[in-house]
Amino acid sequence: MLGQMMGTQLLVSSIIRHADRYHGDVEIVSRAVEGGIHRYTYCDAHRRAKQLANALTKLGVKPSDRVGTMAWNGYRHLEIYYAVSGMGAICHTINPRLFPEQLSYIINHAEDSYVMIDLTFVPLAEQLAPHCKSVKAWIIMTDRAHMPVATTLDHVLCYEDLIGRESDIYYWPQLDENTASSLCYTSGTTGNPKGVLYSHRSTVLHSYASVMPDCFALSAQDVVMPVVPMFHVNAWGIPYSALAVGAKLVLPGGGMDGASLHELMESEGVTFAAGVPTIWLGLLNHVKETGAKFNTLRRTIVGGSTCPPTMIRTFMEDYKVSVIHAWGMTETSPLGTVCTLKAKHKNLPIEEKLKILSKQGFAVNGITMKIVDKNGKELPRDGKAFGDLMVMGPWVVNSYYKGEGGSPLREGRWFPTGDVATIDADGYMQITDRSKDVIKSGGEWISSIELENIAMAHPAIAEAAVIGVAHPKWDERPLVVAVKKPGLKVSREELLGFYEGKIARWWTPDDVAFVESLPHTGTGKLLKMKLREDFADYKLPTA
Ligand code: AMP
Repeated sequence: MLGQMMGTQLLVSSIIRHADRYHGDVEIVSRAVEGGIHRYTYCDAHRRAKQLANALTKLGVKPSDRVGTMAWNGYRHLEIYYAVSGMGAICHTINPRLFPEQLSYIINHAEDSYVMIDLTFVPLAEQLAPHCKSVKAWIIMTDRAHMPVATTLDHVLCYEDLIGRESDIYYWPQLDENTASSLCYTSGTTGNPKGVLYSHRSTVLHSYASVMPDCFALSAQDVVMPVVPMFHVNAWGIPYSALAVGAKLVLPGGGMDGASLHELMESEGVTFAAGVPTIWLGLLNHVKETGAKFNTLRRTIVGGSTCPPTMIRTFMEDYKVSVIHAWGMTETSPLGTVCTLKAKHKNLPIEEKLKILSKQGFAVNGITMKIVDKNGKELPRDGKAFGDLMVMGPWVVNSYYKGEGGSPLREGRWFPTGDVATIDADGYMQITDRSKDVIKSGGEWISSIELENIAMAHPAIAEAAVIGVAHPKWDERPLVVAVKKPGLKVSREELLGFYEGKIARWWTPDDVAFVESLPHTGTGKLLKMKLREDFADYKLPTA
């Protein structure tokens, strides 16, 4: 027997309509690409999204057409999110930090009909344009006064001209909730990037789940700043979740340095911010150097890479800001797990709390996860056994765009994340490695992440990566590649001695290489593949 409730479809357009009706006067504040601060309301954003939908219809954009964006976090980008998806087309956010060859591959693969670009990315678009045949025009996200005087782009349109002449009467179509709404490509550290095609249903469900109390805990009282770019897994869904609850939204534009972020946080009263550890490192350095405080910030979501436990401690103890460590991937929309304490942890000593908070957390309701051995057999949830992390849920990818690579699923329903993890008896998951980064020593696995966390807890270390280096006897042994904090000293012996008593002796790295900086991907993750190449011929003293 079927239930007898309304089959109202879950649509992205319903989110902005709700924000307009119930939180219409709430502000969206953006650091504008042209300079200065831009502010308007949800009501204005909805009106302009409808004007944009009318403009795109006139340009011939049809349902399911892909419309690309190369843009910072700003109000026009938000309008594009809603206009494109709302009209039944697909908003394809492109990460401009990828290599140009990857970018033209992605634009061609997606067959983007138009690409909307911030002024910053005009030179990049000029470089890409000759290779992107599907693109009918590049729409520059600015007004007439700021349009570039000369550009080699053949087909250019001005965003404000386009929407300025349109009516704000537009009726969002009643789509099937399984219609594709947006498209993100994986960062593709190996092979070509693959497209993950989100649906209206997956996006709306993800936004409902992400605002829950033990998740982002967002409400109409919050002032939310996604520092994570809108070109990185839809800024972890914040452009949807903030509107779903009517929180004030603060969009930092391209100014991701500690000083700019802190200034905006303080001037706009930001209570909640989300970003990758590298960004928070810059912010913490800034506040430490200047002696500044966070007067309104209460929670930060840190994800995308392991949040070093020292960062959690600094935020909590020195600045009274809670850190919520989250794990996810492009393929999971991205929220998979979030780490918050349970009632029974309330009276634990701070050290114990920190141990839990350093884990990636338990599954967001809607996500199911397990760890398996190399034969696919489920491993115990004892916090010790580690194996391949598999997930499923309504906002997890089923297959890649255009069927690339065949079905990624195991047993027809589990998505193999490529991460290696433990799960403890309380359900807290902890990532020990990317499967390709695990160090295999004498047939046993060593967690590079655990070794990195220890190195980064050393007061003189700014950043560290641990990779496996070939060893004649053990197959691989760990090497720490570390960056020192400016002006501070630490020797190889001191750093290796720092591991004593913190891990099993045989996990202790065999050597340390100090470098000026570490390579990162376009989304701020350590690029270990590059490090492994750089250190391919490295001779360990133990070899
Ligand atoms: P992406 O699809 O580019 O967002 O990358 C997803 C990958 O980032 C995951 O599979 C993990 O390897 C890594 N990742 C994301 N969040 C975390 C986290 N909190 N801790 C450790 N690794 C993470």
